[in-house]
Amino acid sequence: MSYITGIAHNEAITHDILVVGAGLAGSWAALAASKQGVNNIGVLSKLHPLRSHSGAAQGGIAAALNNVRPVAGTGPRGPLEAVPPGEEPPDSWELHMFDTIKGSDWLGDQDAIEIMVKEAPEIIYEYERMGCVFSRLKDGRIAQRRFGGHTVPRANYAADYTGHVLLHTIHEQALRQGVSFYSEWYCLDLIVEDNVCRGLVALDILTGKLHLMRARAVLFATGGYGRAWKITSNAAANTGDGVAIAYNAGVPLMDMEFVQFHPTGLYGKGILMSEACRGEGGYLLNSQGERFMERYAADKMELAPRDLVSRSEQREIDEGRGVGADRQGVFLDLRHLGAEKIMQRLPQVHELARDFTGVDIITDPVAIQPTAHYSMGGIPAGADCQVIADANNTPVVGFYAAGECACISVHGANRLGTNSLLDASLFGRRAGLAMAEFIKGGAALPPISGDPVARNQARLASYTNGAPGKEAESVAAVAAALKETMTRNVGVFRDGERLQIAQNEVQALQERFDRAQIMDKGSRFNTELLAAIETEHLLTFSEVIVASALARTESRGAHYRTDYTKRDDVQWLKHTLAHKNGADAPRLDYKDVTIFWDRYPPQERKY
Ligand SMILES: Cc1cc2nc3c(=O)[nH]c(=O)nc-3n(C[C@H](O)[C@H](O)[C@H](O)COP(=O)(O)OP(=O)(O)OC[C@H]3O[C@@H](n4cnc5c(N)ncnc54)[C@H](O)[C@@H]3O)c2cc1C
Repeated sequence: MSYITGIAHNEAITHDILVVGAGLAGSWAALAASKQGVNNIGVLSKLHPLRSHSGAAQGGIAAALNNVRPVAGTGPRGPLEAVPPGEEPPDSWELHMFDTIKGSDWLGDQDAIEIMVKEAPEIIYEYERMGCVFSRLKDGRIAQRRFGGHTVPRANYAADYTGHVLLHTIHEQALRQGVSFYSEWYCLDLIVEDNVCRGLVALDILTGKLHLMRARAVLFATGGYGRAWKITSNAAANTGDGVAIAYNAGVPLMDMEFVQFHPTGLYGKGILMSEACRGEGGYLLNSQGERFMERYAADKMELAPRDLVSRSEQREIDEGRGVGADRQGVFLDLRHLGAEKIMQRLPQVHELARDFTGVDIITDPVAIQPTAHYSMGGIPAGADCQVIADANNTPVVGFYAAGECACISVHGANRLGTNSLLDASLFGRRAGLAMAEFIKGGAALPPISGDPVARNQARLASYTNGAPGKEAESVAAVAAALKETMTRNVGVFRDGERLQIAQNEVQALQERFDRAQIMDKGSRFNTELLAAIETEHLLTFSEVIVASALARTESRGAHYRTDYTKRDDVQWLKHTLAHKNGADAPRLDYKDVTIFWDRYPPQERKY
C-alpha cells in the first residue's frame, strides 16, 4: 500500500496515469486501470481519500437486480416482498432506461444512458464480490428499496450508509493493487496545449510546496459543487475545483444551469435527510398538516422526482404554508414507520436529525427545506470518459472526466436518486479501462513548455501579498456574498430579472476578489490559502451557471423559469457548452442531444 507524503525534490513527478479525486469515480478508475496492467498510477486527493463526499451518500445505488417487488394489489406505496425464484422479473434495463430518460426531461444522452443501465447489475455484483456489506433480504440476496422517479424498487443499499461502504470497499482494493495515493494534495492547474493534456500543477498541503506532475493520461474525478449556495447538502470540499480548473485551461463546461435541489435538507442547515426516508414511506406535510404532494403529483406523491418535489415544497412555502422559524420549510414525517424500521433502515438520518436539530424522528416530524445537492452539468465527455473540446466532439487528447464533475450526460436536466453512485462507479471504471487502453496503445508523455509552477507560485503569492495600493478584501466576505446571491437568484425558481441581478453581482464580486488578501503567510497547512483558491473556483463556475441559465429561456428538469414555464423542444432540446472568453462572459455554444427517436422520443413529463 502506498500513501505518498512530503516530497522535497524539484523534479517533475511522472506517472502513466494521474487521477485527481479519490471518491468513487477516481478510485474505480485507478483500480480498473491497474487491473489492466498499468502499474504507475497516482491519485491526488485534497482530503484523505475516505473523506471524499461519496462516503456521505446515504440512500442507495440503482440497478435492476429484480430482488424485490411490491406486494400484489397494494398500490405504488404498498409493502415490498422478495421476488420468488422463477417468477416474472418486475424490472429490466429498459425500464431503468425509460425512467432515467424521463427523469432527465429528455436532455440525457440516450447512448450513454443505455450503457449505464445495461452495465448496472454487473457493477453491483462486482462490489459484492469485493466484499461490500449490502443490506440483505432474508434469503441472502441484496435488499432493494423505492426511490423517487423509479417506477419499481431498484435502489440497492446498506442501511443509510451506502456511500460509506462502497467507498471503503473500493479504496481497499485500490490500495491492494499498489496505487499511489497523494493524500491532501491539491490540484491547482491543468496544463492543456493544442488540445493535448500534458499534466498538472499540485500543492502538497502539508509542506506548501508546488509540484509539476506529468502523465500520459489525466482523469478529473473531483466531484460536485454545491458549495456555491448557502443551504447545501454538500461537504465543505465540494467547491467545483475540477470544473473551474478545466474551464480555465480552455475546456468548455456543459449544461451547468442544471443544479439539483434535493427536497429534504435539514431546515436552516441543508444537511441531507436521505430520499430513502420517503422511499421507506415518509410523508411531507405543510403547516396545515396536509400531504401537499397530492396537489402536484397525485400518483407518485412524495416519490415524484426531486425537481418536482422541491418546486412543490417551495410553492407551499411561498404561498404561506411553510413551517419553521421564518416559515421557509415543510415537515418530513416518519413517525408512522415505527422505531424498529427507522433504526434498522435509517439510523444515520435518525442520528443527524437528533444531533443537528434535537428532533427525534421516531416521535416528531422534522422541519426540512430544499437544499443544493447535485450538479448535473460539468466537464463534457463521451461514454468512454474522453473529454471533448467542442460541439464536434473534438477530443482533448489524454484528458478524461468521470463522476459528478463530468457531464456524460446520463442525468440530463434532472438526476434520479441512486443513479449517481452508479454513474460515478460505472463511468469511473470505464475511464480506467479507456485510459489503460490509451496507455497500452503507446501514448507518449507530452512535453510541457514554459514554467507552469512559477505561474502558479505567482498566483498564490497574489493572495498573500494582496493588490498593492488597494484596500484588502476578505475572502470569507466575498464567498458569503456569492452564496447569498446564488441562493436568492439561482435557486429552485428562476427568472430573467433575478438571473441578470446574479450575473451583475457575480461580476462585481470577481472584481472585489481581485483585491483579496489572506493573513496567514505560512506554507504548512495554510487553510486560509486553500479557502482563497476555492473561492476563486466558486466564482469561476458560478459565472458559467448564471450565464447558461440566463440564456436558456425554457423550463426543463431542475432549471425552472417562472418567465418561461414550458419546456421548449423546438428551441432548447440541446446541451449548453460554455467556453471561457477572456475576461468577458462565457461564449455559449450548443450541442445535439443523442436521442433514439424510434424508441424514446420526447414526451410530456407527467408523474
Ligand atoms: C449527502 C449526500 C448524499 C448522497 N446520497 C446519494 C445516494 O444515496 N445515491 C446516489 O446515487 N448519490 C448520492 N449522492 C451523490 C453522490 O454521492 C455523488 O454524486 C458521488 O459520490 C460523486 O462521486 P465522485 O467520485 O464524483 O466525487 P467525490 O466522492 O465527491 O470525490 C471528489 C474527490 O475529488 C477530490 N478533489 C476535489 N478537488 C480537488 C483538488 N483541487 N485537488 C485534489 N483533489 C480534489 C476530493 O478530495 C475527493 O477525493 C449523495 C450526495 C450527497 C452530498
